[in-house]
Amino acid sequence: MMSRLFPVLDPLHGMPQETLQAFEQWYRLAKIAQIRYVAFLTAALYLIYAAIEQSVADDLSLARLIVHGLLVPGALLLTAFLSFRPQRQALMLGLLTVAPVLAVLANLYFNFGTPNFAVYAPEIYLNLIWTFSVAGLALKRAMVASLMSLSAIVLVTFEPSLAPGPQRLHLIWVLASFSFGFLSAFILERAHKLMFLHQDRLELSANLDGLTGLWNRLCTERFLAEQAERANRYGTRFSVALIDIDHFKSVNDTHGHAVGDVVLCQFAALLRENVRSVDKVGRLGGEEFLIVLPEIGAPQAELAVRALRQRINGFIFDTVQRKTASVGIAEYCPGESLQDLLLRADQAMYKAKAKGRDCIEVL
Ligand code: GH3
Ligand code: MG
Ligand code: MG
Repeated sequence: MMSRLFPVLDPLHGMPQETLQAFEQWYRLAKIAQIRYVAFLTAALYLIYAAIEQSVADDLSLARLIVHGLLVPGALLLTAFLSFRPQRQALMLGLLTVAPVLAVLANLYFNFGTPNFAVYAPEIYLNLIWTFSVAGLALKRAMVASLMSLSAIVLVTFEPSLAPGPQRLHLIWVLASFSFGFLSAFILERAHKLMFLHQDRLELSANLDGLTGLWNRLCTERFLAEQAERANRYGTRFSVALIDIDHFKSVNDTHGHAVGDVVLCQFAALLRENVRSVDKVGRLGGEEFLIVLPEIGAPQAELAVRALRQRINGFIFDTVQRKTASVGIAEYCPGESLQDLLLRADQAMYKAKAKGRDCIEVL
């Protein structure tokens, strides 16, 4: 029961640590603008509140001015300015957590037990809702701040100075604000988690080949471009191996397209399992694959591909038993375009085909 309930309550329940971290980073970035503008607006409203309070309150006016005209708006303005500095986010979130608790404590200190408490109490109710669903805090953090405020509120509410009737009314407003705030923050965070997962899956499927699960052409070319940039900047080497299955058309013609698909999947798995972890395998289209081999030149790439070719030749595919492939290898020359690199690999591969297939050529 609980194991089924958790993923419903928290769509990221049981996800790997990297996913959780990626979500937190994404969520924080998405919330920066909200935090900034809400902090500015709230600071401005507190300044107006402080001015009005000076003409209304009949005690502690200097202390009220310091808290509502200086401390709370100061903490909020600092929060807003820190939102422009990505490296100061921890301090920004800390201030945003402390400011509402400070405001609640000040309110209780100034007004609780006075005849005017009823007109000051709305600040407390608004504060609870603000902390949960306006400030831009993540649910856990908002919960910590709100629970601190709530403990202080409940503690003083049970003081005998408040008559039972107003006391109960006050408690129901506190309960309403806390639960509305919590519910809306919970629903919003859950929706954001679902959206994040959806976006993550879309991103993944945009990079993968639907049939084999290898990188698709776009993603492979992006990786190639990164390798070329590294090679040009740091003088590192890398090579590519273009692999084309021999006489693949006859698989489709003889056994049908479905068998052809199975062979492609098995061939893809064979490539993926027999390269180094740093090598990346992509399907360029049809029965053509590209392996990008970082940090090595053509001679070592050829050795690696020879070992791979042996695995291909020894593999028993479903239905068709054995298949061979022709491979063209090219090492990146600093400064050359990726089109030129792939053209050389293609020419090498066609040379291998011309030589009778099932062999490796380097250009
Ligand atoms: P060669 O040895 O010269 O490479 O001959 P080949 O038959 O492998 O090459 P050709 O380019 O003539 O044929 C490739 C075939 O791959 C044609 C196409 O029907 C098939 N093909 C392309 N994509 C897919 C696919 O996703 N699934 C299946 N089953 N077949 C595909
Ligand atoms: Mg082909
Ligand atoms: Mg072929």
